[in-house]
Amino acid sequence: MKAVTLVGWTVLALGLAGAAAAEVTIIRAGHLLDPQGGRMLDHQTIVIRDGIIESVGPSVAEPAGAKIIDLGAFTVLPGLIDAHTHLTIDQKSKDPLSELEHTAAERAFGSLPSARTVLLSGFTTVRDLGSYRALVDVALRDAINRGDVVGPRMYVAGAFVTIAGGAGAVTGFAPDVTLPWDLRFGNANSPTEVRERIRALAGQRVDVIKLFATGAVLTHNSNPFGRESTREELEAAVEEAHNFGLKVAVHGHGAEGIKAAVRAGVASIEHGTMLDEEGRALMKQHGTYLVPTLEVHGCIGEGYPAEFIAKSQQISAAHFQNFRKAVAAGVKIAFGTDIGVCAFGENAREFALMVENGMTPMQAIQSATVGGADLLGIGDKLGAIQPGKIADVIAVRGDPLANVRALEDVRFVMKQGVVYRQD
Ligand SMILES: [Zn+2]
Repeated sequence: MKAVTLVGWTVLALGLAGAAAAEVTIIRAGHLLDPQGGRMLDHQTIVIRDGIIESVGPSVAEPAGAKIIDLGAFTVLPGLIDAHTHLTIDQKSKDPLSELEHTAAERAFGSLPSARTVLLSGFTTVRDLGSYRALVDVALRDAINRGDVVGPRMYVAGAFVTIAGGAGAVTGFAPDVTLPWDLRFGNANSPTEVRERIRALAGQRVDVIKLFATGAVLTHNSNPFGRESTREELEAAVEEAHNFGLKVAVHGHGAEGIKAAVRAGVASIEHGTMLDEEGRALMKQHGTYLVPTLEVHGCIGEGYPAEFIAKSQQISAAHFQNFRKAVAAGVKIAFGTDIGVCAFGENAREFALMVENGMTPMQAIQSATVGGADLLGIGDKLGAIQPGKIADVIAVRGDPLANVRALEDVRFVMKQGVVYRQD
């Protein structure tokens, strides 16, 4: 059992207890939600050895001397996966221009409570899709992996690959201002520059490439309906990323930008706001994931620049409608929130919006477990509570299949066999 070192009081107590206990842990689950099988099981026992699930079932052999965790009054699920987060973004700032008021070190330390809050709310894995200050996310991922910082397992993008002045750039300042290197690390204005940036990011050990095919809501002077990356740039991005074993996640609001990205072979469309019928068919044909991020609209309000609020209001109804159509059409969906817009720890509010807009609670939970794991390319390790998988386990009161909001109140969090929360 791994010891947790740098932690607050709740985690410290549990971490030390975990470190002192046997290497084998047994969880007794009153109910166990199995997203892979699409079913709820009763009275299951989970045996965990050195952070890996050894066995699961109603009557499995229980090794002597194991630490017992009684979750008989809870519904137990696999640790949740949020496929679209921004843990290094300052949630309180509301404006990318405020990046100019802070150093990268401030953003790094500022992200520590965010990472911790997201983990303790039940999200044990995140795909973190971009940091304004390049590579702060890489440093945070590594600090979490070392055990220096409490947070979810992170798969990081390193920077936003974007046209200069585009959706992923810091914009809205005078043209004679030169940004520091780490606020323009992902800028690329041709297929060649896209390849160059992806090579540079791969060399900095990123896990995924985040690229902008259309304008954005939360960027000054940016039109969400307009296209940014060209077909040639999108194709170059996919080929170059694949050369390094990386997938490409594409920010897409407008329908034409979305379709160009899908045709180029990207792994996921983020937001998918104006996804149309042809786009749905293309996504099904290519097996492209949609990562909806529905909850942001409810959080873009007071304190934001008027331009951002107006754009969000303009597109939110269509976003919900087109998500509903995508679900009905059978487009693959992976749960993602864009957290950093809404407050860290409010990730699970996305579930209720998914269910209000056409998913069953089971489908929504599948999108945040087996679906997310498949998109991240970690389906052999995570996303389900099965022998051989990493022991990421959470628990909630009540039945999330009856009321998916039960996931907004997570009471138990284990990541790789280590207990971080047990209320
Ligand atoms: Zn985002």
